[in-house]
Amino acid sequence: MGYPRLEINLEKIRHNVSRLTAQCSEKGIEIAAVTKVFCGDPKIAKVLVEAGATMLADSRIQNIKKMKELPVPKMLLRIPMLSELEDLVEYVDVSLQSEVECIRRVSEEALKKNKVHDILLMVDLGDLREGCWEDEVEDILEAVVELQGVRLAGIGANFGCYGGVIPERHTLEKLLGIKDKIESRWGLQLGIISGGNSNSLHLLWEDQIPEGINQLRLGEPIVLGIEDVYNVPIDGLYQDAFRLFGQVVEVKEKPSVPIGKRGIDAFGKVPTFVDRGIRKRAIVAMGRQDILLDGIQPKEKELILLGASSDHLLVDVTDAKTAVKLGDILEFTMSYGGLLSAMTSAYVHKIMIE
Ligand SMILES: *Cc1c(COP(=O)(O)O)cnc(C)c1O
Repeated sequence: MGYPRLEINLEKIRHNVSRLTAQCSEKGIEIAAVTKVFCGDPKIAKVLVEAGATMLADSRIQNIKKMKELPVPKMLLRIPMLSELEDLVEYVDVSLQSEVECIRRVSEEALKKNKVHDILLMVDLGDLREGCWEDEVEDILEAVVELQGVRLAGIGANFGCYGGVIPERHTLEKLLGIKDKIESRWGLQLGIISGGNSNSLHLLWEDQIPEGINQLRLGEPIVLGIEDVYNVPIDGLYQDAFRLFGQVVEVKEKPSVPIGKRGIDAFGKVPTFVDRGIRKRAIVAMGRQDILLDGIQPKEKELILLGASSDHLLVDVTDAKTAVKLGDILEFTMSYGGLLSAMTSAYVHKIMIE
């Protein structure tokens, strides 16, 4: 069996999606299930669709291509690069947009293929990542309604990604206000009003999502069962659909502070150490080429993660409940960043459990 190893439990993912889908559909909200954290793996994506996701969303066209056989529309979450518009109109059903110039070029590309490409206009409601300002909407719409190759499918906003802004009821009401203005001024019917990512879930549970928001784009809660804003486990969802394991290759007693004249570590940082005396230390065959160090923790609370170089992970195992020995397998819990790093590393073995 190969290590480091990431076990992916498809039934737990299915359970998480169907619970979230049920909660959302009670309020008239559909889920665009976000696949970027598992690189658009088609086997996992298929489970999301079977469990009720009516749209799949990813930030990369490369991932969307892998899911092209799945019978739901695909959304591109990152504003497209001008250099990928040909692929965009080929593989993507709806894309997030904020720049007139880009939308114009998308329209041209779509027309070349005799297609009409759906766009979702992103409005920045304060998080300061993507999106146009509310006062730009009118000018953008003026231009967009003239274009034959694109159709305004809806509008959306994003939160909690750069500014850490937490959406509130009034924030989403602002989005609905913009929708109303667009619909009355241009006589359009907007199908999708996308009220954010998992940062909007707390509003759903508090029954504070205003009527009219009909889509949420959810990633982290599906894969980790965790709520984003307050970083707490979601009741009734699995937090261990993805599990990370590594194998111990050395166990020795060593001082907790290095011996000798000290400089920088393998990553150019001057390391600091807590003197806990002589400690029993394990090396796990896993490193920064496999995982984001800040994104993982030993599952057993008694173990202390000390650090890592590219291929070695150092763990203080002195207080382990059962003595750790050579060849043992240790489990690690992951944050979103930790999971993303393990998924994107070619060195980590991914094992699906059906
Ligand atoms: C990644 C992403 C999401 C999903 O966010 P989660 O916090 O994982 O639910 C939604 N929308 C956009 C635009 C994204 O980039």
